[in-house]
Amino acid sequence: MLRGLIDLHTHTLYSDGSVTPSRLLASAANAGAVAVAITDHDTVAGLAEARETADRLGIELVKGTEISAEYSPGTMHILGYDIDDHSPALLTGLDDLKEARGRRNPDIAARLQELGLDVEYDEVVELAGNDMVGRPHFAQVMVRKGIVSSIQEAFDRFLAKGAPAYVEKKRLSPADSISLIHSAGGVAVLAHPYQLRLGSSDELETLVDSLRGLGLDGIEAIYSRHTPEQRESYKRLAERRGLIVTGGSDFHGAYKPDINIVTGLGDLRVSYPLLEQLKARVRQVRMNQTGNTQS
Ligand code: AMP
Ligand code: ZN
Ligand code: FE
Ligand code: FE
Repeated sequence: MLRGLIDLHTHTLYSDGSVTPSRLLASAANAGAVAVAITDHDTVAGLAEARETADRLGIELVKGTEISAEYSPGTMHILGYDIDDHSPALLTGLDDLKEARGRRNPDIAARLQELGLDVEYDEVVELAGNDMVGRPHFAQVMVRKGIVSSIQEAFDRFLAKGAPAYVEKKRLSPADSISLIHSAGGVAVLAHPYQLRLGSSDELETLVDSLRGLGLDGIEAIYSRHTPEQRESYKRLAERRGLIVTGGSDFHGAYKPDINIVTGLGDLRVSYPLLEQLKARVRQVRMNQTGNTQS
């Protein structure tokens, strides 16, 4: 068994994963992980349960979240790590995002119905089992009803950005996403840069520089769906710019059936020293904040 690994990007059924935080942590421990970050989309609701299980299993929990920022034409997600999940500013900010999601979701169902598909919003809510309904839940309902044969097909044909049933939702700007994470004492990391769909590494470098100006702390270079070349090049970019490097699987259980916790598509190895660097960065950010309020 592999040992001393970590996984800094996972989703539970508090957002659009299919397993509880407890089951997720147990599976991670079984796969050899010594530390795991739970990074549910736009929520910290799973972290209380996660804390209890982590203490019981003796696995280190990193409290996280993943915020979807305003960006086009690709996707920009910002991960927040070591956040205070009781921070009033954070909870208010995340509540607004949940409301925006709640306004968007019935519109997705309406679009699907306009396309002649038999998908009721109520079925999607029931499947999700919580108030953080996401597109993967729509996709799963479509699979179960035989409308598509896989979640990926549901995204490609209907739900992905640019597809016929895609509906925009209000998002935070990159600047506000980063500030919200910092206001909760955490560090902000650019998730899976390949999803930005930038044409060249120069464009990525320019974007990273502007995010760095807004306080970005790191880049998720090591990611299930990054090629070895991407992992290496994102890592070098982070190092050149004095940013930390993080890594994780983006495990969603049954909603991304090919992605395993800790090992991703099989070849993922994220090791503990990256978490030590993350923790050092957290201390730095907090020290700067204290310095700023005193001056
Ligand atoms: P939502 O937050 O409801 O907009 O849904 C975001 C979720 O949908 C994330 O878990 C993504 O991984 C997943 N997702 C977004 N775009 C795609 C895509 N093109 N293919 C597969 N999954 C996607
Ligand atoms: Zn997700
Ligand atoms: Fe993401
Ligand atoms: Fe994710």
